[in-house]
Amino acid sequence: MSKFFPIPELKSFIRCPLCGQSYNSEKIKVVKKKDNAMIFYLVCPKCKSSVMAMVTASPLGITSVSALTDVTEEDMERFKNKDPISVDDILEMHTFLEDE
Ligand SMILES: [Zn+2]
Repeated sequence: MSKFFPIPELKSFIRCPLCGQSYNSEKIKVVKKKDNAMIFYLVCPKCKSSVMAMVTASPLGITSVSALTDVTEEDMERFKNKDPISVDDILEMHTFLEDE
């Protein structure tokens, strides 16, 4: 059984790495879910940056990592189904996605 945190709670941890804006949860897309981590894709309502964020829940608490990306929403669909993109900033998320 997954003891995962409710999504709205996790979303509140995500901030734009560029302008610090917190996001309206409706704008956030869940790219990938695992037991203790989730990857989100979102576009900042303030500075329009595309951001990928990974939120990890552990006994020590919730950690979020955000990275700017030039991946579009369309690319993200491909990313999900096909070859991973290779952007250094999101290498950690990339590894996570590969780890099925
Ligand atoms: Zn922003």
